[in-house]
Amino acid sequence: MATATSPIVDSRLGAAASAFVTSKHQMYIDGKFTSASAGKTFPVYNPATGEEICQVPEGDHVDVDRAVRAARRAFDGGAWPAMSPSKRGQLLYRLADLLEQHTDEFAELESLDNGKPVSIARVADVPLAVDLFRYMSGWATKTMGSTIPLSAGNDFLSYTVREPIGVVAQIIPWNFPLLMAAWKLGPALAVGCTVVLKLAEQTPLTGLRLAQLIEEAGFPAGVVNVLTGFGEACGAPLAAHDLVDKVAFTGSTEVGKLIAKAATGNLKKVTLELGGKSPAIIFPDADMDAAIAGAASAIFFNQGQCCCAGSRLFAHESVFDQVVSGVSDIAGKIKMGEGLDPSTELGPLVSDEQFARVNGFLKSGREQGAKFVAGGKEHGGRGYFVAPTVMSGVKPGMKVVDEEIFGPVVVAQSFASDADLDRLAAQANDSIYGLAASVWTRDISAAHKMARRIKAGTVWVNCHNVFDAALPFGGYKQSGWGREMGAEVLNNYTEVKAVTVKL
Ligand code: ADP
Repeated sequence: MATATSPIVDSRLGAAASAFVTSKHQMYIDGKFTSASAGKTFPVYNPATGEEICQVPEGDHVDVDRAVRAARRAFDGGAWPAMSPSKRGQLLYRLADLLEQHTDEFAELESLDNGKPVSIARVADVPLAVDLFRYMSGWATKTMGSTIPLSAGNDFLSYTVREPIGVVAQIIPWNFPLLMAAWKLGPALAVGCTVVLKLAEQTPLTGLRLAQLIEEAGFPAGVVNVLTGFGEACGAPLAAHDLVDKVAFTGSTEVGKLIAKAATGNLKKVTLELGGKSPAIIFPDADMDAAIAGAASAIFFNQGQCCCAGSRLFAHESVFDQVVSGVSDIAGKIKMGEGLDPSTELGPLVSDEQFARVNGFLKSGREQGAKFVAGGKEHGGRGYFVAPTVMSGVKPGMKVVDEEIFGPVVVAQSFASDADLDRLAAQANDSIYGLAASVWTRDISAAHKMARRIKAGTVWVNCHNVFDAALPFGGYKQSGWGREMGAEVLNNYTEVKAVTVKL
């Protein structure tokens, strides 16, 4: 990559992150770093200041086609299909090692680009991505079928094999840019697919830097291709491309529906990880300090920009006031600031668009009669900061209760003393989404009974936002199709073939 001469963008960046930010940014297609075919670039902004950080290539349908054809060639012939599972696993493991060695650099880039606190990126985003690659590297040698006894007779031998699905298009969002890239790339590569990954236009930096590590790790040309560009001009032609066998998307439910439609041309396989409006449910017997701190962190972690954020808080009426005032106290004490400041606990939202969107929800809450117990406004003079916000006096039918806000904004509702678990679960399940939920109680039976009743892909008990490469994650209802991570995700990237032999 060519090195440009522009000045270091922020004195808090280490030498490695500064060198990357000020270098010329290129997409990664067919093993080469390249500009957009049309020669166009677009700006990347620092959400803490609104200032431009750098320019990245503006990929379009021509670049998509180049990348898909490279991935097709790498899948259909060449080094990748011939590579042993053990060697594929080693490459993924090497990528994990390289990423780990650059933890500080990636944490700083993520913080600069997305706005999140660097202290969090260092202990969450980067190590979770490293773990994911390591975990998936182990599956490379363990994707297998089974032998199946047939009722048709004893003189048959039947077995299944799991084969890589082919060329996979992966489109990711901006809330965990590096981690989402890892969630997507890890399993697809482990089972032997080739990939075209489109980064979110708001946060391309760690994905572009990861492409350099992918090259350094030694993946053959065309196996991983990384594009930057906008949703309609770059994401849409990728989702629709006829030479793509499968599309995996993480993002809004609205765009998820467009992806599903775009995939119908060649009926490519689709998995979607979409929005949520997850309940955090506090019973009166819960460890109240832990539950209040947990409910606050469930919504304020990552500025509330988590698809599984605990954005609907339910507390038993006997503890409702205590819970709301406890969460509001925490909201009032959270230290907001630029992500690169090591003492920052809550950074800005990712973009001006997101800032306007969340402010729109605050306005709607106000107009529809919600009571603001904490926050409810912008913070500071510049950048996209929204103060952690707690609303009570809300009910279903209000926009702030029904719709995903994707910001540090929680709506609190009480449940009645005489509400049985079925009624409570009906309240918690009253959403088009079904991604996650948390239940806070010391009653082990009530916890498991609620876990059974909740319609969501993840139920946490006495915790929230616990992720592990080994745990499947994904949604019921309009929260998506399929699961990320764990052994489950391997099904997303493999076809099953049944072979029957007449003996
Ligand atoms: P958000 O609304 O939170 O920005 P989106 O769902 O719009 O999230 O974006 C997630 C990803 O989907 C991004 O990489 C974006 O560029 C991409 N995208 C947006 N619109 C489309 C589309 N019509 N087709 C394919 N990808 C899209």
